[in-house]
Amino acid sequence: MLTEKPAADALPATGVRPASTAVVCWMDGEFVPLAEAKVGVMTHGFLYGTATFEGIRAYWNEEQGQLYALKLREHYTRLSHSARVLLMDPVLPVDEMVALTVDLLRRNGFRQDTYVRPSIYKSTEAIGVRLHNLENKMVVFAVPFGEYIAIDRGITAQTVSWRRNSDMAIPARAKIVGAYANSAFSKSEAQLNGYDEAVVLANDGHVSEGSAENLFMVRDGVLITPGVADDILEGVTRGALMDLALREMGLVTEQRSIDRSELYICDEVFLCGTGAQISPVVSIDHRTVGTGKVGPITTRLAELYFDAVRGRNPDYADWLIPIY
Ligand code: PMP
Repeated sequence: MLTEKPAADALPATGVRPASTAVVCWMDGEFVPLAEAKVGVMTHGFLYGTATFEGIRAYWNEEQGQLYALKLREHYTRLSHSARVLLMDPVLPVDEMVALTVDLLRRNGFRQDTYVRPSIYKSTEAIGVRLHNLENKMVVFAVPFGEYIAIDRGITAQTVSWRRNSDMAIPARAKIVGAYANSAFSKSEAQLNGYDEAVVLANDGHVSEGSAENLFMVRDGVLITPGVADDILEGVTRGALMDLALREMGLVTEQRSIDRSELYICDEVFLCGTGAQISPVVSIDHRTVGTGKVGPITTRLAELYFDAVRGRNPDYADWLIPIY
């Protein structure tokens, strides 16, 4: 899988992509132009959703002229875990996946915020639903990327009628492509009803997460988030924010089940994720959250987070890999 052939338009390690150069993608050991990276219509991962993926951000720091890839090791460790759940291991070692991603970003020469999307998919072209006796392949692409949901204004959310896929159906802790139909049902219900985002409950009625974000709430100065047994994805951003809250604000995050109605009476709610970053929620199911304005703990955590991910706080240099 790791027999890399440099693409014709590969750039020197320090290169910056000229506007005319095609974006390259890493596909099963080779760098190829993104436009040429295709899979067949009978690919198992396409037919049945038997694939796993990660969403990773790299942040551009204009003053430093540097692109920082965020928490690559954590993402690739989770990808390996998801692959194990899907009977896909062994996959490439985490260090190799990190290295090829750094190489991919360097070759593309992006000078703006970037989103990296690695996938491991069941690549056998065959009819027949199962997990076993199938080949796997890996692909990683990267594209320039801005905001996924609003981070500057507070958003509105609705508790949707769909339930999070449970560990008894499709484990939420694995980032399984097929499971994202569940996220899509939730997001569309909320948006078609006029809200920005979904709050999704687990089967037992407790709050699980957003459609593609983890959820935090603040009650009486205590930071609270659902625990890992509440059918959540064990978010990298969730972990990073708990770390920041403790180190910078002395706040120990309580991990416990949250009732839907607690969201109506708490002081602050925010959603977080690689795509979402930190998105304050100011209204849920027509109830104003706290004062209806972005709260002080959310505001402070967002400042700390953006300083760390953009390489402005040397205390968190170990979260980042500089690309150039
Ligand atoms: N939950 C779900 C369902 C997600 O898709 C995501 C985005 N990956 C998250 C939570 C947040 O996870 P992370 O912070 O690792 O991006």
